Amino acid sequence: MAAFSRLLRSSSSARRLLSSLTSKKQSRLPAGLAHHKAAPARTEAAAAAAAPERNVHWVFLGCPGVGKGTYASRLSNLLGAPHIATGDLVRDELNSSGPLSRQLAEIVNKGKLVSDEIIINLLSKRLENGEAKGGSGFILDGFPRTIRQAEILEGVTEIDLVINLKLREDILLEKCLGRRMCSQCGGNFNVADINIKGENGRPGISMAPLLPPPHCASKLITRSDDTEEVVKERLRIYHEKSQPVEQFYRSRGKLLEFDLPGGIPESWPKLLQALNIEEHDCKKSAAA
Ligand SMILES: [Zn+2]
Repeated sequence: MAAFSRLLRSSSSARRLLSSLTSKKQSRLPAGLAHHKAAPARTEAAAAAAAPERNVHWVFLGCPGVGKGTYASRLSNLLGAPHIATGDLVRDELNSSGPLSRQLAEIVNKGKLVSDEIIINLLSKRLENGEAKGGSGFILDGFPRTIRQAEILEGVTEIDLVINLKLREDILLEKCLGRRMCSQCGGNFNVADINIKGENGRPGISMAPLLPPPHCASKLITRSDDTEEVVKERLRIYHEKSQPVEQFYRSRGKLLEFDLPGGIPESWPKLLQALNIEEHDCKKSAAA
């Protein structure tokens, strides 16, 4: 492990981290928030020539079903920083002829968990590839899941901000139980129609269902592990494992707690506001 960390520390991300630590830093808001302008679309060459300031190094936390992939992906598009989901990293490597694909296939076929080392290895490779192509920054989704992973990650690159997406447990449960898949085309839908009135000072919350088109409607199936018991257990395990990770980043002043106020139409503008991002900057500079 020690040798492995040393190896990681020599990566270009780590070198850049060191240089960024020694150079002057912009003053930070408590949660490590700087003012971020949405990056206009531009060519990689132009981006390199303009030597843009370093893009975001963000992490999304949130339990299964909260929609972190959706928000991470939207922010990725807006800020021009790649959205890196570790599940995708593993799937991509499995489908490639990369050095780890055979080892990974063995692990996955035996139903075992992919080790921290392999995940970090794939991740640092992905970050270095991104840098080599002139890319900048990242938005991580699904990583780190444990303190150990967070510590390893800290040795590889600097994390600016960790966004913890939260949704009331009863709503989360309803959303998870509302998940449906089309048995023919594989499309994912959600039949949960959430409409909870505010009470005792707690704001109401409504989230529209994501209904299938008519040709899928008769072919919907529920995943066998989307039962109330299994979903509750999944959430319990998630909270047990994630609390130390949240504390890890909270103690470093990097955790931004964000309570989702509803579905995407309500949540997206509020999230941008919490992140100090002005979406209109994007349109203005893109039009210029
Ligand atoms: Zn379908």
